[in-house]
Amino acid sequence: MPLTKLRILTDRLTGAERRFSLRTLVALSSLPLFGVVAAFGIAPDTRTLDVPPETITEAIALPALVSAGNHGPFERESTVQSGDTLASALARLKIDDLDIQRLLATPVVRELAASIQAGKRIQATTAPGGDLLTVQFERSNAPALLVRRAGDSFVAEDASELTETRVVMRSGRIQSSLYGATDSAGIPDKIADQMAETFSTAIDFREDLRRGDTFSVIYTVNYRNGEPVGTGKLLAAEFVNAGKAHRAILYRDPFGTEAYYTPEGESLKKGFLRSPLEFSRVTSGFSNSRQHPLYGFHRKHTGVDFGAPTGTRVKATGDATVEFAGRKGGYGNLVILRHHNGYETYYAHLSAFASGMRRGRAVSQGEVIAYVGSTGASTGPHLHYEVRIAGAPQNPLTVKLPGSPPLAAAQRARFLQQTAGWSEKLSLLRGTNLAALD
Ligand SMILES: [Zn+2]
Repeated sequence: MPLTKLRILTDRLTGAERRFSLRTLVALSSLPLFGVVAAFGIAPDTRTLDVPPETITEAIALPALVSAGNHGPFERESTVQSGDTLASALARLKIDDLDIQRLLATPVVRELAASIQAGKRIQATTAPGGDLLTVQFERSNAPALLVRRAGDSFVAEDASELTETRVVMRSGRIQSSLYGATDSAGIPDKIADQMAETFSTAIDFREDLRRGDTFSVIYTVNYRNGEPVGTGKLLAAEFVNAGKAHRAILYRDPFGTEAYYTPEGESLKKGFLRSPLEFSRVTSGFSNSRQHPLYGFHRKHTGVDFGAPTGTRVKATGDATVEFAGRKGGYGNLVILRHHNGYETYYAHLSAFASGMRRGRAVSQGEVIAYVGSTGASTGPHLHYEVRIAGAPQNPLTVKLPGSPPLAAAQRARFLQQTAGWSEKLSLLRGTNLAALD
């Protein structure tokens, strides 16, 4: 079975030079391990499994050997399975019998062997010639136990506090709301927010979300001594909205600046947001908004209206300079932003402005500039939003919005080299969703 296909490699923050295989959590429909393979499309003849739609999480341990370039040392990792003895778990790490006997002759290791627990990880490092150098045992409520070769025997010590970053892959399907689906898939809010933010130039999550939309996320979780201590960041994501796939991949340039790009290297960051309204748990869900925008774009109505409760936060849809913030006739409280390339955006009927909104102030994409209200010629709380080019109103729902330039050629080559693996992982994850769909 090509388990290596499922192997995820990542840099440890504690040793960026060395690459390790990681135990990887893959969120899947409730499939047993072999079902996972079917879901990944490696064994198509078993794909007709009747799969319930709920997304649950399965932990898969993937022992693997990864070389650290040409110089070693090499690290192998295994997870203790139920039914394992310490000896059988060590044997899976390709530690030879003599060394296993020597290890078990070490008092503290013998003690550990008596209370071996499924799920704990064991890591072994070997010299390029194959000699066992160290074995590290994960323990409960204690620092890992590090055992080092000392001639023909081994000596044990508490490992210094082990902090590491693991990569987690999860996917889900929208049933009622984005956050409902991310909750079901066990995805932390921080990652759900990052996903919504990352795709906000491509998808308006308030208006565009469809039942049956699927998503996959690959993100990091920080661990200390084997226990999760915090959510890291989104590395890659896919959102299939109304049948159209959007992908985002985090890229760190040589200067350390990080941003999300499509797999082809197009920037996701600097286009215009699809919606000027903040998307959050509060405004999440299918908008009752089959009727929204309340009034379409036509000659007399120069923008689109987004229904939203008074006080909903209004965001600048692109980097801009404030051109106007004040009261203006039927618009009521109005903000006009001036963007590059002759674009302007209008935000009207506001209840209030964000502090500091005045002519000349620079605002960034996504920055809160005001709050939804019903001032001016308005019959209920909503946001009237306009996009103008050289003064002429455009239909915000269809106008071509300027993006920022893609990566320069030299950067793009580096980007593609660094990120190709993530695209492949996203495709594998999509397979799990497709399997769950029918
Ligand atoms: Zn309007």
